[in-house]
Amino acid sequence: MSTQSIPSDSIAINASRLNDHLAALGQIGITEAGMQRVAFSAPDVAGRDYVVGLMAAAGMAVRVDAAGNIIGRVEGGEASAPAIVLGSHTDTVPAGGQYDGALGVIAAIEVVQAVADAGQTLRHPVEVMVFTNEEGTSFHRWLLGSRAVAGLWESEDFAAVADDGATLTARLPDVGGNISRIAEARRRPDELACYLELHIEQGPLLHRGGFPIGVVTGITGRSMYHVDIVGEANHAGTTPMAMRRDAMSSAARLALAVRRIAGEMEVVRVGTVGSMEVHPNAGNVIPGRVQMGVEFRDERMESLAAAEVELRRTAEEIAHAENVAIAVTAQRNTPSVPIAGNMQQLIADAAQLAGLEHINLPSGAGHDAQAIAAITPAAMVFVPSVGGISHAPAEYTTPADCANGAQVLLNALLLADGR
Ligand SMILES: [Zn+2]
Repeated sequence: MSTQSIPSDSIAINASRLNDHLAALGQIGITEAGMQRVAFSAPDVAGRDYVVGLMAAAGMAVRVDAAGNIIGRVEGGEASAPAIVLGSHTDTVPAGGQYDGALGVIAAIEVVQAVADAGQTLRHPVEVMVFTNEEGTSFHRWLLGSRAVAGLWESEDFAAVADDGATLTARLPDVGGNISRIAEARRRPDELACYLELHIEQGPLLHRGGFPIGVVTGITGRSMYHVDIVGEANHAGTTPMAMRRDAMSSAARLALAVRRIAGEMEVVRVGTVGSMEVHPNAGNVIPGRVQMGVEFRDERMESLAAAEVELRRTAEEIAHAENVAIAVTAQRNTPSVPIAGNMQQLIADAAQLAGLEHINLPSGAGHDAQAIAAITPAAMVFVPSVGGISHAPAEYTTPADCANGAQVLLNALLLADGR
């Protein structure tokens, strides 16, 4: 633990106010089955209204952009200085938790409120951004708001249709957006100084290790593959073992290879076979064809590339040994987003100023920061998720850890402002 104390001119967040606001937001959309603030739903709109009220009370000028993002802004002392942005999201997955996204938003507002309470004006303007549909549960298009700010919308976003048949064009006005003006949500790099996001880890490393703060080194990339294994369907009783061209045995070998590539070989951080279709899927027929989905995730693109090489090499080996044909087709990939070294250092320094020990770790989940990183330097602070549980009703971060994270966010803001 660092022995460095908080300098006398620093500002402290109000921990009880932070946790009260977090608890109040956590009551909006809560059910016995968990949090239900799915983007564009009535609870989502109610949560957004609550946040707008907090922003106004903290002295921010509040607007909603064409993507439905809520943006609160306080001006800085230097007229032409670019804005330091703090952000996250208030939408949730169905039956989700009370901390994913919500902590980052409530903490960002608390940081602005704490600076105002201290009677200080920073050099830079500060903007708090609450991004629309981070989770992508609605319309199956995630990071919708943050990608609009970064100018990263794709044709599929404009054409997005929800499961109930509603178009995004029709629903975006429900959160104050307007798809025909989406280009106006885009921000120029010269308007922004940097982006800082506090988030729960959603994994077990901080809680298990007893570390209060995580400095995020990069946001994971994901590569996905469709694997088609073609053997020969035949009678399960009469075909001798040596004469079989069994697509299922081949698939099983490949699934174990995926685990080995990430596990024993440590080529890539994680690897998963999450889906499999067996044909004809009958107990007395040797499977003639299996289709499976493989994915790898890592924050280093070179690791993802190495995993693909190993996957293809192993598939060829198995195809030869099992006398089947295996086609590995790369699907659309999500590139990893590294966090710049100086931005990691900013968070590490902010943690040290708060007297909090930290570790460096990658983010295994996606976040708005990865979109915003396309237009301004981004950094992320993680706080422990008890038991590593997230996207579930049991998602929990202690009030002390929430307060620690908010203080580190504030310290990071002050350090960035002084640069
Ligand atoms: Zn989140």
